[in-house]
Amino acid sequence: LLCDLDGTLQPLAEAKVSVMDRGFLFGDGVYEAMPVYGRRIFRFDQHMARLARNLDKLRIPAPLDRDGWLARIRRLIDAHAAEDQIVYLQVTRGVAMREHVMLPGLTPTVFLFSQPMRPVPAEQRHHGVACVTARDLRWARGDIKSISLLGNVMARQVSADAGAAETLLLRDGEPGGPWLTEGASSNAWIVHEGALLGPPMDGHVLEGIRVALLRELCEEEGIAFNLRPLSEADLRAADEVLLSSTGKEVLAVTRIDGEPVGHGALRGKPGPVYARLFEAYQRAKCE
Ligand code: PMP
Repeated sequence: LLCDLDGTLQPLAEAKVSVMDRGFLFGDGVYEAMPVYGRRIFRFDQHMARLARNLDKLRIPAPLDRDGWLARIRRLIDAHAAEDQIVYLQVTRGVAMREHVMLPGLTPTVFLFSQPMRPVPAEQRHHGVACVTARDLRWARGDIKSISLLGNVMARQVSADAGAAETLLLRDGEPGGPWLTEGASSNAWIVHEGALLGPPMDGHVLEGIRVALLRELCEEEGIAFNLRPLSEADLRAADEVLLSSTGKEVLAVTRIDGEPVGHGALRGKPGPVYARLFEAYQRAKCE
């Protein structure tokens, strides 16, 4: 595998950054992970817009403009054989003596690598996946796609230890909660009375690129779409539960904490809204 570190293509295993990089010392940086299908970057402009917003929030100067990023990413994709890839890109504030203050004038460190995409296994496509819930103990700036992912790593391990595919996070708060926020590395959705519902995209949730995409696909399909607070009770009573992310695309959750999701004949099985959104997603990829 090849990577691109500060504009130089090199073997991934040989790339080195300084121990004084603020990404290493503070987790002071942001990232993107974007899907590539048939060598085309899916939703490139949306990923770049989110990256620009995140850099802005952290006052990290944009190292490249849209076309600069496109050239770098294209070169990396072309250096690999796979038609379908996932490109990972991260920008840290740069190298400096250790000091919490956001020192101005640093040169951001820019790192990209690409891997062949591993499609969701057929078994998970057909039967859905099991998830477990855990308390959301992360900070209140989940809108920033920060490389500081310790909370997400700890959350994901809860489901890994249980042999489950993802951890659904529930945040304590006001009467009526706890509230569904998202997965450890995905957005979470429920289906209620035929509508796709997600939590509000506030500081507790990362606005996945698939959030706007699912809104568009729902519109095409005539499925109602709404973002509003979803309680743990809403989650446990849902007709369907879905995850979305670059790697999972859209994926059905058919068990939560060991209990089958849904009602009647569809209990524990991927539901009709999932099936329609999955098909619509596959069509969108090919457009
Ligand atoms: N939330 C979190 C915490 C994530 O890590 C991800 C995946 N990057 C998502 C949501 C989904 O975002 P996207 O659709 O852009 O992959």
